[in-house]
Amino acid sequence: MFWDTHMHSHYSGDSEASPRDMIESSIQKGLAGICFTDHLDLDYREDPGYFDLDFEHYQAEILALKDEYRKKIEIRWGIELGLHPHVADQNIEIIKAFPWDFVIGSTHLVDNIDIYYPSFYEGRTERSACRRYYESILENLTTDVDFDVYGHLDYIVRYLPSKGKTVTYEKYADLIDEILRKLIEKGKGIELNMAGYKYGLGHPNPTEDILRRYRELGGEIITLGSDGHKPDQIAWDYHRIPALLKDAGFDYFTVFKNRKPEFIKL
Ligand SMILES: [Zn+2]
Ligand SMILES: [Zn+2]
Repeated sequence: MFWDTHMHSHYSGDSEASPRDMIESSIQKGLAGICFTDHLDLDYREDPGYFDLDFEHYQAEILALKDEYRKKIEIRWGIELGLHPHVADQNIEIIKAFPWDFVIGSTHLVDNIDIYYPSFYEGRTERSACRRYYESILENLTTDVDFDVYGHLDYIVRYLPSKGKTVTYEKYADLIDEILRKLIEKGKGIELNMAGYKYGLGHPNPTEDILRRYRELGGEIITLGSDGHKPDQIAWDYHRIPALLKDAGFDYFTVFKNRKPEFIKL
């Protein structure tokens, strides 16, 4: 019954997986549906063009596979769009230009640096790095980029020197609450991204307390994804999902079709 609506194929700069292999693995894992969400991060200065996306070939291949596999699994076509205020206008155009089912807006770059790189943390305390990260999300929320859910909301914990062991919701509650309220006000959701378990964090992204807080504040849209970049990462640790959702106050999850949310009961 579950869906995995955050996954990458070789159309993403950091994946070599064929879409067909991702689909075959999804069927083996018993998923009802999936959505491809390959990366686009404009103005990626460390390696220009690395996170560009070949829209036409990506669209043609996924739509052909969607048709071929229609009796076995439902396949949708989306994008994980790297948000950054100075590329907002280009991102707005890209969202309008193609018939996406689903758009994840994510922060990978803060002040033009990929927070995956240790250089982002040089000269910063953990607290100042985290505060700057959450402030940059608020800056993205002042733009008119019309995404559906914010990806891996506490993404920075994956790469902190402490691996997030000392990071709690409470420490950044002022910024996180402001982000969650703005998302809800804009009619946008968040995702339950299971890659935190893959990275050995022992938690999803965002952590359980942030998921719960989102629901408490009135958040309703919650999508599920492994953020898999290889076939064997699909539906990563999905056995944990019913408890994670229920503990956060959800008895359903959300999938998107033609940019419209659909709610699937647990
Ligand atoms: Zn991402
Ligand atoms: Zn991703």
